[in-house]
Amino acid sequence: MSELRWHPLLREWVGVAAHRQGRPQMPKDWCPFDPGSGRVPDQFDVLIYPNDFPAFSPQSEPFSPDAGLYCRTGARGSCDVVIYHPEHNLAPSQMTAGHWRKVVDIWTRRYRELAVMPDIQYVYIFENTGVAIGVTMPHPHGQIYAFPFIPPLIERELTAASDYQRQHGECIYCRILCDELADGRRMVTANPDFVAFVPFFARWPGEIQICARRHFADITAIGEAEATNLSAIIKRVRMKYDNLYSSPMPLMMLLRQKPVRGEHPYFHFHIDFYPIQRSSAKLKYLAGVESGAGTFLNDTVAEEKAQELRETEPVG
Ligand SMILES: [Zn+2]
Ligand SMILES: [Zn+2]
Repeated sequence: MSELRWHPLLREWVGVAAHRQGRPQMPKDWCPFDPGSGRVPDQFDVLIYPNDFPAFSPQSEPFSPDAGLYCRTGARGSCDVVIYHPEHNLAPSQMTAGHWRKVVDIWTRRYRELAVMPDIQYVYIFENTGVAIGVTMPHPHGQIYAFPFIPPLIERELTAASDYQRQHGECIYCRILCDELADGRRMVTANPDFVAFVPFFARWPGEIQICARRHFADITAIGEAEATNLSAIIKRVRMKYDNLYSSPMPLMMLLRQKPVRGEHPYFHFHIDFYPIQRSSAKLKYLAGVESGAGTFLNDTVAEEKAQELRETEPVG
């Protein structure tokens, strides 16, 4: 069973899930996410599937930490797989914008369900894709983790956004979006509701942020036209990434939303993309400086990467 152990030097939780090591090697020609596998319905468009080896689970002991150096507690929460599409070999960039809309809708529905569960503090929707990221399963899918605490990077971003709002009387994301639109050098693509740009402070080579033009804090506040435009811009960004080096880009896609409890009016919905390929043949690894010191070294420049991504027109 999973547990959480407290790291008193970094003041953060470490999830310990020993059973994950016991994950069976899947037969080569069998995929549990395929219709007909016996594990999923014979017909579906998009599907929420409980993670078979969850790091957080409703069956775990409750999260109720004590103080102390050797603190451990239950990893109560939940881990879902979002199967994007029934077709096994379809890259997320090849899914139509209409199909991405179905993913956006299922994200929203599941977010609502998890947000009202008593043990949940944060709902984290994300995707890891590509063998280089460690994903051996090509079937297009993402994940949703429901945490019993607010993860540390979210906590840092909340503090930064709240401090900026207090000091400057405006939303830090709205400010950055306005500045990026005026500057233009780091723009990648945009539509009436969302803007994609490489942040000035990008840590990953070709990192992209999709930012909502309207100020809202989580996906449940999204309007009908916004949901369609979000699907369209995700599709466009994904195609650009896969066209950049003419091969599927290994990446992480992370939805940034406010915690499910409390008031967070300073927070602004966005999606971060962390691609790990820094050239057609080289990967970005997190080594001593990044992992040990927490300082990223990016050997690409945001303005140049943005231009490459802007000029890479989606094909297909
Ligand atoms: Zn499959
Ligand atoms: Zn804002």
